[in-house]
Amino acid sequence: SNRLFGGFRKTSERLTGNLAGIVGGGRLTDAQLDDLEDALIMSDLGPRAAARIRERLATERFERDADERAIMEVVAREIADILRPVAKPLDIVAFPRPQVILTIGVNGSGKTTTIAKLAHLFQEQDYAVMLAAGDTFRAAAIGQLAVWADRLDVPIVKGPEGGDPASVVFDAVKEATQDGTDVLIVDTAGRLQNKRELMDELAKVRRVLGRLNPEAPHDVVLVLDATNGQNALSQIETFKEVAGVTGLIMTKLDGTARGGVLVAAAEQYGLPIHAIGVGETIDDLRPFNPDLLARVIAG
Ligand code: GDP
Repeated sequence: SNRLFGGFRKTSERLTGNLAGIVGGGRLTDAQLDDLEDALIMSDLGPRAAARIRERLATERFERDADERAIMEVVAREIADILRPVAKPLDIVAFPRPQVILTIGVNGSGKTTTIAKLAHLFQEQDYAVMLAAGDTFRAAAIGQLAVWADRLDVPIVKGPEGGDPASVVFDAVKEATQDGTDVLIVDTAGRLQNKRELMDELAKVRRVLGRLNPEAPHDVVLVLDATNGQNALSQIETFKEVAGVTGLIMTKLDGTARGGVLVAAAEQYGLPIHAIGVGETIDDLRPFNPDLLARVIAG
């Protein structure tokens, strides 16, 4: 996991940088705790997680001359406690098949790449995978998904640009059911600019899905770009309302100093986090490992 450690180095450097100069010895003073809390907030962990970590630190008794390392160990333990309840891999459990995974997220978040990474992951687990190009709004989106489908050698169902996403999804579910497909991953439009339209579109997709299989969609996965920091958090808020999100995948955690948003998302929303994206290639999807992540964030 060099890539992961490499990627989070900036987050962790930022956090330790923000903590520098705070030296323990017995209990931390209120002023020190204030500084620590501010440092955590500045590192994108969000006010709630920061307050929680502060509380934990306030109960700790440090050795005389304790340094940042001792403090960071406590921080890492609390971060792990925050992350652990939301760690949940995307398992294929639907019966009858296929399991339908709807992916949503604003354009540029890494949604298409994440769909390809997931398809690859499921293929490696010997599942039969199919893609549906439900983002009919942009010809480029259909094309890009088709390129991945070709590269991965997975079937793709697509319609014309400007066509009805619900009809693409209808065709895809029918085909997937006939073919004995295990997992159908559906791309959807990421236009947040027109919330009403997006909401109607997703509602129609859901209606059609529900008619074919009352359990579908089994998962509604929101793809978030970690480099957007706090803005990624407000996207959770919006898409929860618009799309009934059931879980998250955060991308671009390689090389960003904003890995702390993972902790903020976990503490503020409690939604399952399925995996994280740490690069542009097909293998750059990592399981969400709370203890490892806590150690790299509070390195
Ligand atoms: P979409 O518009 O949401 O479908 O986004 P794309 O999948 O096309 O991704 C947008 C850009 O982000 C592309 O250049 C991807 O290669 C890149 N990208 C996606 N995921 C990651 C990631 O985890 N790390 C990095 N560094 N880049 C990523």
